[in-house]
Amino acid sequence: MMTRCAVCNHKERETFEKDLALERTTAADVARAIGCNRSTVTRHLRNHLLPELRESYQANAEPELKHLDVLAEMMELYGRMKEHLSNAENGEDWQAIRAFHAEARKDLELLAKLLGELQQEGTVNITVSPQWLTMRHTITMALEPYPQAREAVLEALSEPG
Ligand SMILES: [Zn+2]
Repeated sequence: MMTRCAVCNHKERETFEKDLALERTTAADVARAIGCNRSTVTRHLRNHLLPELRESYQANAEPELKHLDVLAEMMELYGRMKEHLSNAENGEDWQAIRAFHAEARKDLELLAKLLGELQQEGTVNITVSPQWLTMRHTITMALEPYPQAREAVLEALSEPG
C-alpha cells in the first residue's frame, strides 16, 4: 500500500525538515508553503522523518559515539541540576537544597560508572578527541565538591586502557 505524503513528495522536503529542526519555521508555515494541512506536516515528522532518523542513527553510530551521546546528555542534565541547586541555595530553601544535592550525587555516581565502563572498553578514540578532553575537564571541575567521587573518576580515567 502506497501512502502519499505531501511533505515526503515535496522537492524542498529536506529544507523544510532542517528549518523545522532549527526552529526557523513552524509546522503551520511549512503546511502553508506546501499547500497541505498542518496535521500532514506533524504526521510526516512523527511517522516518516523520525523513523528514518532513528534507522540511520542506528546504522551509522559507532559504539563509542553512542557512549558519548549518553555522556553528553548526562553532563547536560547534571549542568541543569547544578543550576537548580544554586537557585535553591540563593533562596536558602534548605529542603530543596538537600533534594538537589541527593539528585546531583546520583548523577555523579552514574557519570562515574559510565566513565569507568568507557575506560574498561579502552575507547582510544574518545580519550584523544577534543570534545572528550573538554568533557573530562568539565567533569573533574564539577566533581570538586565531591572529593570521593572525583578521586574515583580520576582513578578510572588514569588507568591505562
Ligand atoms: Zn512524509
